[in-house]
Amino acid sequence: MMRLVSVVRALVRGGIDLLLPRVCASCKKPLQTPDRSQHVCRDCWSRIKKHRPPFCPGCGRSLEQDTLAADACSRCAQTSGQIDRAWSPCEYEGVIQTLIHEFKYKHKEYLAPLLARLMADCLTERAVALSGIDVIVPIPLHPAKLREREFNQSETLARLIAAQLEIPLVPGILVRKRNTRTQTELTPRQRVENLREAFGVTAPAGINGKTLLLVDDVLTTGATVSEAARALKKAGAAAVFALTIAS
Ligand SMILES: [Zn+2]
Ligand SMILES: [Zn+2]
Repeated sequence: MMRLVSVVRALVRGGIDLLLPRVCASCKKPLQTPDRSQHVCRDCWSRIKKHRPPFCPGCGRSLEQDTLAADACSRCAQTSGQIDRAWSPCEYEGVIQTLIHEFKYKHKEYLAPLLARLMADCLTERAVALSGIDVIVPIPLHPAKLREREFNQSETLARLIAAQLEIPLVPGILVRKRNTRTQTELTPRQRVENLREAFGVTAPAGINGKTLLLVDDVLTTGATVSEAARALKKAGAAAVFALTIAS
């Protein structure tokens, strides 16, 4: 009987193994068995660049030597961001940039747990007071874009982070009123213009006086999270923080 159980167990494990991709999601080289469940080879994993303290409160990046005395990095000093504090574990380059691209545009949703864990661990490692965060809100996609991409990457991440940190998730409270142009080709100033009045809040009572944590995949200029925070604060949110994988 025991033997049968272990045979079945081995078959199930083998079946699960067959379903998992056999190559690293970043460099595409074959994965060793212990790395299979995490989808990234050891070499790529060790090359992910993490931001180092002290951090800029506006974007989560490391403060450069020349801005150590200031309270924000040179990029954030020029903008009037609406985010009270931003955290991001990684620099947006190399391996992590590839992983985010594969996750977001190539339907590799199996990368979500790994990316979400990096984000949630970033808050616990930095001793962020989680009891001070009332709800987690994902950055929404416009319905037209959601149909095209079939899933909202920010909501997938937010759901996993909410479960790990045991903070309630409120998807659907923040919506896109306009289908904005893709931001990648735009200058920082154009991004702000592009996003003006792009977000709306469906049920202000649900966030009134609360402290919110916005979740998005990447923070570049910060225009998206800032514009979302503006709408949430207008609707009564007391404070808005942001968490992204990379910045
Ligand atoms: Zn690799
Ligand atoms: Zn900054």
